[in-house]
Amino acid sequence: MDKKKNIRVLVLDDDKFMLEFVTHLFRELGVSEVLVAEDGKAGLFVLSAQIDDVDLLICDIEMPGMDGIEFLRNIADQKYNGKIVLFSGVDADLLKAIERLAVVRGLNVIGTLAKPVMIGSLAAILEKLSLPIHKTVDSSAIRQIFDVEEIQQALIADQITIFFQPKISAASRRVTSVECLARWHHTRYGYVSPDNFISIIEQNGLINDFTRNILKKSVQQLDLWLQQGLDLKISVNVSMENLDRLNLPEIYQEAVQNSNVPIDRVILEITEGNLGKDFAQSLDILTRIRLKGFGLSIDDFGTGYASMETLKYMPCTELKIDRIFAHNATEDLATRVILESSIKLGKAFGLNVVVEGIETQADCELVAELGCDEIQGYFIAKPMLANEFTRWLSDYEKNRLSAY
Ligand code: C2E
Ligand code: MG
Ligand code: MG
Repeated sequence: MDKKKNIRVLVLDDDKFMLEFVTHLFRELGVSEVLVAEDGKAGLFVLSAQIDDVDLLICDIEMPGMDGIEFLRNIADQKYNGKIVLFSGVDADLLKAIERLAVVRGLNVIGTLAKPVMIGSLAAILEKLSLPIHKTVDSSAIRQIFDVEEIQQALIADQITIFFQPKISAASRRVTSVECLARWHHTRYGYVSPDNFISIIEQNGLINDFTRNILKKSVQQLDLWLQQGLDLKISVNVSMENLDRLNLPEIYQEAVQNSNVPIDRVILEITEGNLGKDFAQSLDILTRIRLKGFGLSIDDFGTGYASMETLKYMPCTELKIDRIFAHNATEDLATRVILESSIKLGKAFGLNVVVEGIETQADCELVAELGCDEIQGYFIAKPMLANEFTRWLSDYEKNRLSAY
């Protein structure tokens, strides 16, 4: 009970009575610090004015002015990391959709609360909060540690390493290719993941040299593997920021032509995010990349702005369905429906359909059953260094063959 007393709660609702009532109920339950706000703007102000963190936010959805969805978008941008309970009289399906949206934005929604509110349901929420809170490493904190000079030094010192993550055929379970994922081998932090430095590279005009470097190294590695008799392809990530020069297809072609790797063994993965920035130029570049013989994959399908539009125009060969639609698809009906439709959509366009982020056997079996072509995810293997991958592959093949 003592723990509850230390919790700071913010209740956001446009109904004054509701604010008083909920505050009263929380006090009854032993929570002494209850802050209130009558609309989204006031809520943002209260959150930004607090020296101590707000642990729990009870957020109404239907409010005049800034509604709950807009408010959640704002606090997601501000990286609010307390727990959230959505509070509304809207129907349960809509509330569920809003909850999903908040989760997609990285917010920590722990439940929903229907109106009229009962003391029992508030008590249940407090029970959830009293559990030990597992603090994950906040990647935004790491993000601020690196500045562009440090990253530039890392590029010069060749501290960027590539990790390789296998993709397998859903039908034969054979390893077909590897995705090449950048890691910064930092002297102090070990292997730093790309989410912590790619955007800084992009914002500072370094992404073209960076991608060419990754492509060259990945191709060199594939060259070695092909010489060893391994039948593999590679996938390399290309940022939309790369598509700022019309001679990009030639630059990439040259990076591959300096090796013995056939160009059709190299797939470039494009995150669909902002294809619209200079639509015609992006399409010109991507179409000529295809013409050179590279495979072209739409990465993170389903999470960007223009999924359908991208499919219609982009001359792609592969569709990679984002892991948010794979994760838990066996448990959650809506996720499964989106997953199934995306696979069908990709197949209807004649594309190689990959589902990434497969973490469990159940999800692996489900996506194979739903007709995807290839599977990638921790369930198969995590990304690893080249020599680890070769060892892993030989063990994997032994097990695969003995399973037949
Ligand atoms: P991505 O291209 O969608 O790559 C897949 C990410 O999902 C990788 O994260 C991978 O480690 C992770 N992953 C794979 N399987 C699972 C799984 O089962 N569960 C979970 N939770 N995660 C899984 P990573 O390596 O941290 O890369 C993050 C993103 O950074 C990549 O997403 C890609 O967009 C970008 N990136 C990585 N390397 C490069 C690069 O060389 N150039 C550019 N422009 N972007 C890169
Ligand atoms: Mg990728
Ligand atoms: Mg992806």
